[in-house]
Amino acid sequence: MFTPAELSEIKNLLTPENKIVILTHYNPDGDAIGSSLGLKHYLAAKGISAEVVVPNDFPKFLKWMPEAKKNIIAEYKRKVAADLVFEADVIFCLDFNSPSRIGILGDWLTKANAKKILIDHHQQPENFDFVYSDTIIPATCQMIYHFIEAMGDESLVNKEVADCLYTGIMTDTGGFRFRSTSATTHRIVANLIEKGADPALITSNTWDTNTITRLQLLALILGRIEVVNDTVAVLYLTRNELKEYGFQKGDTEGFVNYGLSILGVKMAAFFMEDLYEDFIKISFRSKDAIDVNQFSRKYFNGGGHINAAGGKSQENLQETIETFKERVVEEGF
Ligand code: 5GP
Ligand code: MN
Repeated sequence: MFTPAELSEIKNLLTPENKIVILTHYNPDGDAIGSSLGLKHYLAAKGISAEVVVPNDFPKFLKWMPEAKKNIIAEYKRKVAADLVFEADVIFCLDFNSPSRIGILGDWLTKANAKKILIDHHQQPENFDFVYSDTIIPATCQMIYHFIEAMGDESLVNKEVADCLYTGIMTDTGGFRFRSTSATTHRIVANLIEKGADPALITSNTWDTNTITRLQLLALILGRIEVVNDTVAVLYLTRNELKEYGFQKGDTEGFVNYGLSILGVKMAAFFMEDLYEDFIKISFRSKDAIDVNQFSRKYFNGGGHINAAGGKSQENLQETIETFKERVVEEGF
């Protein structure tokens, strides 16, 4: 948590007169949108307005969250987004650890004069004016709750705040099951339910939203899943397949976990050609001590958490998968 001195500085910055902007990472997920909107609704309950700015669009299954549709999407509203960042007095940076993770917003964030407050659970955070980083906590949404507590404002957690924070904790813990899910996580989730979060509705809004396209893409990749050395699962999708099936943002969310669910598999990698640009986006997942954050940093220009990370490759799909298999052997996975 921030030190008491930092917290009192932050309290002084959070006034109705100051312009407050909340940023989160590229390809926003449930935790990114949940923490941003959760913080926004908390600030609103304090009488402080804030704007959420995201680098690019986010999946439909997150747009049910209160005020999600008011988020400024920088790839569509470049000028509005830039003006907000440059005119801000305070910028909250949520669920990312480096300006390189927020696309076009990164350059603006670096140049902006605002006080920058980081709240994030990724490995190796970079410098910000105020840093609350804890890689043990499973979701940034949980950290927003701790921040609200530290501000002495638990009573301001209303249904909107609770629904948003619950969503991010649920998605980033894979439904309360990943390793970092703690007793504290569950206590906070219980509090959120008492404050009005609706677990059944949140789950169905977020997860029971399969489209036929998504299920067909899933059937395709499951049909050809490859397991290397009995321990590493490899999945992939080509650009042509994405086009053929009418891919929409979010359709492949969670696919990599099917690789990790195979008995004996310790690491899974999902490779996907970008729809428009010539690069491969990779998702890594692992169990126990296999550190995919380090692996992705070392070989695939990425990062994330020990057991969940992402990266990129400029090689073509086949070369990328071959390179990956060689690196896996080198690392002895
Ligand atoms: P996903 O595989 O779900 O896209 O990402 C898994 C985790 O790794 C998330 O916490 C995400 O923020 C992080 N991540 C994904 N892609 C990248 C990347 O290219 N660079 C870094 N540093 N982190 C990433
Ligand atoms: Mn997160």
